Amino acid sequence: MPIFQHATFVTSVNQLRDLPPTVMEIAFAGRSNAGKSSAINTLANRNRLAYVSKQPGRTQLINFFSLGNDAYLVDLPGYGYAKVPEAMRIHWQQLLSSYLSQRPALRGMVLVMDARHPLTPLDRQMLDWFCVTGKPVHVLLTKSDKLSRNDAMETLAMVRKELQHWGNASAQLFSSLKTQGVEEAEAVIAGWLQPFENHIPDPVAEP
Ligand code: GDP
Repeated sequence: MPIFQHATFVTSVNQLRDLPPTVMEIAFAGRSNAGKSSAINTLANRNRLAYVSKQPGRTQLINFFSLGNDAYLVDLPGYGYAKVPEAMRIHWQQLLSSYLSQRPALRGMVLVMDARHPLTPLDRQMLDWFCVTGKPVHVLLTKSDKLSRNDAMETLAMVRKELQHWGNASAQLFSSLKTQGVEEAEAVIAGWLQPFENHIPDPVAEP
């Protein structure tokens, strides 16, 4: 299900009040340098949709990409870059926590982690902010090509076990370098973008 093939850049915003009105969104989050831009480019099968060569911590904007059919991919600023000034760090923490916990159009979050360093304290913070909503999270353990097959499988099992703590969270291995894990990720995300009617539970019959 190639849901990202027609992704086009729409806008960048720096403030919650500037968020465009949308029907449905999926957010991509991750630590700076985790491989988020590469993962977005790989899923979209494009080289420079989300810039890979940016300086860590510099692209501090929320980028919106249209996927067509009223759906948007929202590329959140990478976090955890040590050289960001304190005031900017606080601004982005507040913005990310408010966006993740209060955005009605948000259907799910893709959390990108370097498979060699999964579940950092800031990744856990993102999960805490988002999972109170009950919406789904899918973790991409990227750069998995840097691990042996055994180590990658062990990491995946460990992360899946830890994610049980947050409830509605799944994980998979991913490699932008080897283009691995694309179909699995697309299938999960496509499931979040079903027409809204499908998410409304059947009415409970009155006694
Ligand atoms: P971002 O800051 O999270 O957007 O990270 P980038 O996508 O810019 O990637 C950070 C660095 O990791 C770059 O040097 C990429 O070439 C490298 N990288 C990203 N994904 C992979 C991958 O799947 N495998 C390998 N080996 N390197 C990767």
